[in-house]
Amino acid sequence: MVLEALVLSVAGGYARVRVGGDVLLCQFRGRLRRSGILPGDRVVVSFEVPGQETVERVLPRGNVLKRPAIANVDQALVVFTASEPPLNLPLVDRITVLATHAGVGVILCLNKVDLIDPGEALRLGQVYQPSGFPFFATSALIGDGVEGLRPVLEGRVTVMAGQSGVGKSRLLNSLDPSLSLATGALSRKISRGKHITRRVELLQVQGGGIVADAPGFSRLDLEGMSPGELGDCYPEIRSLSAGCRFTGCHHQKEPGCAVKESIGSGISLERYSSYCDLFAEILEWEKRRYE
Ligand code: GDP
Ligand code: ZN
Repeated sequence: MVLEALVLSVAGGYARVRVGGDVLLCQFRGRLRRSGILPGDRVVVSFEVPGQETVERVLPRGNVLKRPAIANVDQALVVFTASEPPLNLPLVDRITVLATHAGVGVILCLNKVDLIDPGEALRLGQVYQPSGFPFFATSALIGDGVEGLRPVLEGRVTVMAGQSGVGKSRLLNSLDPSLSLATGALSRKISRGKHITRRVELLQVQGGGIVADAPGFSRLDLEGMSPGELGDCYPEIRSLSAGCRFTGCHHQKEPGCAVKESIGSGISLERYSSYCDLFAEILEWEKRRYE
C-alpha cells in the first residue's frame, strides 16, 4: 500500500510525516538522502513492511524557501509590532518582498496592540491597505484578534516571519496552547548564545493548518533581484505601473510616473519610501556584480 503524506521534519535519516491524522517516523530511500527531502514536501510513503514505512519519492514542489529550508510554503505570516520592539516598517516590507519573490503569499499581523493607541493600529492598517495584503491586529497577551488568524491558516502551510521578540511563539501558543513553545528573552538568549541551529519543524495548529516556527528569513538581502522584480513584489506598484508613461518605469525620476502620482492614495508614503530604499540597495548589488 502507498499513501501520500506531508513531511513535518527531517533528521538523522528519518522523516516525521503526517498521513491522514497520524504522525509517523519513516525511513527514506537512499537516493533521497542526496537529492534532498524537506519539511513541507508532499511524499509517497510505502507501507509494505509494518514498522518500516518508507518515503519512496518526493512529489513535485510548488516552491522552495532556502532559509529556512521548507518546500511548498503557501504563505508567510509577517508579525511586527509598533512597540517592544519599536515599529520597523522597512524590515516588514523587506520580508514581504522576499516572500512575494519566493512565490509565497503575505499576511500581516500587527501584534502587541495592547501596548499602543488604537489610532496607531488603524493608521498602520491604512499604510498597507492599498497593498491588498490581509492585515490583522492582535494581542497575543490578552487574546485580542487572535481567533481571526485561525481560518487564514487553515488548510495551508504558513511560515512565521518577523523579528525576534514580536510575539510569534506567543501567538502560536495562544492559537494552540498544546504547542507550548518557549517565549521571551530567555529562550532567545539560549538559542543565540549556544549557536544552536534550530531544525525546521512544521507544527500542526489545532483547527488552523500547518505552521513553521522557523528562525525564518534569516537571509534578508536582495542579491540577484532585478529592479523590475522588486516593483512586482509591491502589489500596489505592480498594478499602478500600468499607468506609467514609460514601460519599465522604475518610479524614481521618470516623468509621468503613475506610482509617484498616487502617493497618499494608491500607495502610502511609507510603502513608496521603502520601495525606494530597496531599489537603491538593488542598484548597489548590481554595481558590485559588474565591478
Ligand atoms: P518571538 O521571538 O517573536 O517568538 O516572540 P515571543 O513570542 O517569544 O514574545 C516575546 C515577548 O513578548 C514575550 O515576553 C511575550 O510574552 C511578549 N508578548 C508576546 N505577545 C505579546 C502581546 O500581544 N502583548 C504584549 N504586551 N506582550 C507580548
Ligand atoms: Zn512609474
